[in-house]
Amino acid sequence: MSEWLAYIGFGSNVGERLRTVLSALSLLQASPGLSICSVSSLYETEAVGYEEQADFINGVVAVFTRLRPLRLLRRLQTVEKRLGRTREIRWGPRTIDLDILLYGDLVLVSDELTIPHPEIQNRRFVLVPLAEIAQDDHVPGTGKRIGQLLAATTDKSRVDLFMTSADVKEKLKEV
Ligand code: AMP
Repeated sequence: MSEWLAYIGFGSNVGERLRTVLSALSLLQASPGLSICSVSSLYETEAVGYEEQADFINGVVAVFTRLRPLRLLRRLQTVEKRLGRTREIRWGPRTIDLDILLYGDLVLVSDELTIPHPEIQNRRFVLVPLAEIAQDDHVPGTGKRIGQLLAATTDKSRVDLFMTSADVKEKLKEV
C-alpha cells in the first residue's frame, strides 16, 4: 500500500501547553496508518491574527501515512477532541490545533481541506519549525522551497526556541 510524507503543524496556548503538545504527538505516534518520521524543535510564539491571547507552543511533525487526506484530517480532529480542544473565537485560544501543512506533492482545494495549507507563507510560527525539518522541500503550486518562503515572509512575529527537537524526542519516550 502506498505511503505519503505529510507535514502536520501543531500549536497550543491553553492550559499545560507542553503536556498537551507531547500528548498530541504521542497520540499521533500510536495512531494506526501513520508513523512519525521527524519532529521539529518546539517554539514559543506570539499569537498572529487575534493578538489578545497567550503565547503558543508550536512545532511541526513529519509523518509517513497511508491515510488519504480527508481521513488524515479526521484523525487529527479525533486527537484534537481527545485532548479536549475548546475554542470559541476563530484564530483565538485553543487547547490544541493540528493542521495538514503539506501532503506529498498534492495540491487540493475543497470545502473542507486546502493543501498546501494556504497560510504557510504568512506564518513564521509554521515556517521556522517547518524549515528546520524540510528546508529544501518545495511547496507544491508555488515553485518555492520552504527555506525561500521563510526568507521572504513579511510576518515579523516572535518565534523563540522553547525545546530542542532532541529533547522533544526524549520527552516523547516518557509520555
Ligand atoms: P482550524 O481553525 O485551523 O482548526 O480550522 C479548522 C477547519 O479548517 C477544519 O474544519 C478543516 O475542514 C479546515 N481546513 C482546511 N484546510 C485544512 C488543512 N490543510 N488542515 C487542517 N484543517 C483544514
